[in-house]
Amino acid sequence: MMLEEAIQLRFEYAAGGIGSRCLAALRDEATLLAGRCSAGDHVACPASSMCPRCGALVEALEPAGPGGRLLAWTRDDDTVFGLIRVDGADNAMIHRLLGAQFEPGQRVQARFAEDRIGSILDISGFEVAP
Ligand SMILES: [Zn+2]
Repeated sequence: MMLEEAIQLRFEYAAGGIGSRCLAALRDEATLLAGRCSAGDHVACPASSMCPRCGALVEALEPAGPGGRLLAWTRDDDTVFGLIRVDGADNAMIHRLLGAQFEPGQRVQARFAEDRIGSILDISGFEVAP
């Protein structure tokens, strides 16, 4: 016999120096930053202290987005999530999509929240670029 239940875990962790700089740029300037890998020349957005592709330290940040390309999308009840490669990055992030009609390959752009607190949710979502 199998039982299925959902467990909700809430946790906090330090964003680190690179992550903190990115979150501050989102909050203070409504700007996306990408981290450039010191070993493999990978560029990731959102950035973290370690390259998600090769594990090398990320020491340099550079502007990314706010535009990008929608690689894929899915719907969960009333929320649509997209896999977005922002301009200047070679990875993709998952974030909410705003709007109703999406096609893989579409150009999208970040819409920033008016009240920003230093969170990835300072991006309200991505919408189809005009
Ligand atoms: Zn790398």
